Amino acid sequence: MAGRIPYYHDLLEAFAEPGCAMCRLLAVSADKLVDTVLYEGVNDVPTREQLNAARGYCHSHAQLLIRAGGALGTTIMMDGVLKVLLRTLAANPVEQAGASSVRGLLRRANVKVSHTAVQKLVADLSPQAECPVCVNEAEMLGHYGRTLHQHLAPDNELFQVYVASDGLCLNHFRQVLADGLPGPALTALVTAQQTIWQRLHEQSDEFIRKNDHRFRGEPFGVEEDVWQRSLTAVSGAPIRTYVKSKGLTQ
Ligand SMILES: [Zn+2]
Ligand SMILES: [Zn+2]
Repeated sequence: MAGRIPYYHDLLEAFAEPGCAMCRLLAVSADKLVDTVLYEGVNDVPTREQLNAARGYCHSHAQLLIRAGGALGTTIMMDGVLKVLLRTLAANPVEQAGASSVRGLLRRANVKVSHTAVQKLVADLSPQAECPVCVNEAEMLGHYGRTLHQHLAPDNELFQVYVASDGLCLNHFRQVLADGLPGPALTALVTAQQTIWQRLHEQSDEFIRKNDHRFRGEPFGVEEDVWQRSLTAVSGAPIRTYVKSKGLTQ
């Protein structure tokens, strides 16, 4: 689209939608990446090596593989990880401590040796690299965070959509905040978030009040779904909340 500033217009649009704008943008980006990997990256050697080193996708991003048309690609990629796991087990034999052999007796006398072998197995089974989608997420968060710090100013358009929105979830607010330097953008960021938290706090109080039996007759207003919005504000929302690919594998 003409005149579209990278990341800036994405932020403007995401703040107009419910939930944490950053959770939403990162979920969409993660969804696109998984699509690309499934359709182009399954046989790409560096992609597969990174995935094997990461011991597969992290728990939350693995859910994105559950989509229409993804069954074969997922099977091939997970089979690659399984082969690595089997090789790791074969390379780190863990003998039974109770074995009625001289070696078993010796081993029981030297528990530390056995414990070290288990520790090595645990270490080798652990991710040797970050989940590839998490890596992409951190990059995108950097781009969006820098854009906020470059463009946010008290009372400009970006500030207005931010302050009217559900804000950033605590995790993303903290991460964006950490990358900023004192100045108008940082002040605007904190002011916007403070306004949003204050609004949620007041709506929560109202929700709690209306749940009191003395005020049961009063109809709910805007605070009706505050429990959901405050949960997202504090803990973020699951990725599935923001992506459309809900299809199941064939
Ligand atoms: Zn978030
Ligand atoms: Zn991940």
